Amino acid sequence: MVLIDGKICATRWKSEISQAVSLLQSESKITPHLAAILVGNDPASEAYVAGKVKDCEEVGFHSTLIRFEATVSQTVLLQKIEEINQNPSIHGLIVQLPLPKHIDANLVTETIAPEKDVDGFHPVQVGRMTKNLPAYISATPLGVLKMLEYYEIETAGKHCVVIGRSQIVGMPMSILMLRNAPQGNCTVTTCHSRTPDLAYFTRQADILIAAIGIPHFVKADMVKPQAVVIDVGINRIEDKSKTSGFRLVGDVDFETVAPISSHITPVPGGVGLMTRAALLYNTLLAAKLSFHQ
Ligand code: NAD
Repeated sequence: MVLIDGKICATRWKSEISQAVSLLQSESKITPHLAAILVGNDPASEAYVAGKVKDCEEVGFHSTLIRFEATVSQTVLLQKIEEINQNPSIHGLIVQLPLPKHIDANLVTETIAPEKDVDGFHPVQVGRMTKNLPAYISATPLGVLKMLEYYEIETAGKHCVVIGRSQIVGMPMSILMLRNAPQGNCTVTTCHSRTPDLAYFTRQADILIAAIGIPHFVKADMVKPQAVVIDVGINRIEDKSKTSGFRLVGDVDFETVAPISSHITPVPGGVGLMTRAALLYNTLLAAKLSFHQ
């Protein structure tokens, strides 16, 4: 069994991005600049955004964090997005989700200029990805593709089973594995909460990607021996031995699944680190694109 180490992959990717930043600066005097909007003070969102700002510093990007109270009106939020859309010194814009209930998240996503949508959530970017055109690919699926590339895992002709069909992970992941592209060309089955006899499908997977949100959901008897197992899930479970009172686990029961798999990602230390690096990669692309316009 080979452990697909997210830390090694993310360090390598960030180093490649840092080098590309130096090159871009010397060619064009442009420094990639990511703006992040955070609404409210949900602790998990605070932590995610702080991580993104820190990542920017690490690779030599500029970053701007814009904060609003949870009570901010949708109009004010959309005006700020429009303002950033018009600001040529900002290349990428993300709005941290989830948003308060009175704000229409779809409208927010669609207000971000597609060329600055480095989260890859805008319908234009999703459409471009689906048509196999250059696009900002949603960070988590893009991170998974990069891990498959770094570990030289053959995907063409394989049966990939994705569990989950969310807009940010499962759905784009399935499309990407299906595309006629490197780290694609799979026969893809997408399973979800309404799939009967899920194990019937998962046991056929050469590559099994779990994005469900249920701790330890995938057990060894659901996995074909020698499958490649990618665990996207990040779930908190109670752990009184930790100061925080919890620890993070994936959607895969790592202890039982790892011994029978050919490759597997751990949680923590797996896909999550690559999601962060993927956002940097998209922001670098956006900065390069602004130079070549
Ligand atoms: P989501 O809740 O939007 O989607 C979950 C999907 O799982 C749904 O499509 C649903 O149909 C499916 N599902 C739920 N119960 C099921 C069941 N019993 N059988 C089969 N399918 C079932 O969640 P999401 O945003 O896609 O996230 C999934 C997991 O990935 C979560 O643990 C989340 O924290 C994690 N996540 C990790 C990263 C990362 O960087 N590693 C990024 C995003 C999400």
